[in-house]
Amino acid sequence: MKVFTEIAPLRTHLIRARKENFSVGFVPTMGALHHGHLALIKASKQENNLTVCSIYVNPTQFNNASDLQHYPRALEYDIAQLEATGCDLLFAPKDEEMYARPTQIRFDFGDLGNTFEGAFRPGHFNGVALVVSKLFNIVQPDKAYFGQKDFQQLAIVKRLVSELCFDLKIESVTTVRELSGLAMSSRNMRLSEEEKEKATIFYKSLLRARDLLASGRSWSTIRAALNHDVDSTPGVKLEYIALVDAQNLNPLESVSEIRNGAVILIAGFVGNVRLIDNLLLSE
Ligand code: AMP
Repeated sequence: MKVFTEIAPLRTHLIRARKENFSVGFVPTMGALHHGHLALIKASKQENNLTVCSIYVNPTQFNNASDLQHYPRALEYDIAQLEATGCDLLFAPKDEEMYARPTQIRFDFGDLGNTFEGAFRPGHFNGVALVVSKLFNIVQPDKAYFGQKDFQQLAIVKRLVSELCFDLKIESVTTVRELSGLAMSSRNMRLSEEEKEKATIFYKSLLRARDLLASGRSWSTIRAALNHDVDSTPGVKLEYIALVDAQNLNPLESVSEIRNGAVILIAGFVGNVRLIDNLLLSE
């Protein structure tokens, strides 16, 4: 696997590859790779001649300095994982390369960006849109792969691509989970074994919410019951659980309002580690 830390040589390499009619698949990540990331790499390898992964812990999408400081970094381990999975190119830039000049550009996605993650992490989706736009312009992939695990991010990236006419296709990949049901996340590295066990409450709550909805309970009753359950687990704090439209993420109050599919979103803390998860109601 070739590793690039600078934009110019990566571009030169990709221009040559495209001249040979290579289709390019792209998997942007923040590193500390796990099987969820590798599922994206595998999906790209199946559909493209060349797979590019990026590893960059993007400072502009962190609203919390301590979260940025403690975000796990494991470049050598990541390179070994990518090589074992057959990734062709890695782009692992430094901040000076990605943000050579401070930018004044701001993205505003309206309600799609101001609710849920956008409400609890102000500025988060502005940073995501900024770095994803830069990376798309640098790599110019035919397809880019994103996990359903970050459901709102996926919706934001689809909106970005559609509204700014990026010439590429967004592919989504199902969430990869531990046997316990816990969604894989780089942040899980910061949990003790006991905390990992506690963190399974998020996925269990999603399953329970789905079953209760199927049995005809109202969403407000379900939300109140789950709020209570999660918050009575010591060391766990719920930020939100919501039933939303799968396309525009507008909150729904009952299954009768479902038009374009629905998803249940959940977010909260285990100790001081913030985790998110979701469940598509068709799953
Ligand atoms: P991150 O490194 O957390 O920014 O994630 C990079 C990409 O991997 C994003 O598109 C995530 O949605 C995706 N991803 C993270 N965790 C998982 C998972 N457990 N299953 C599938 N995709 C994931």
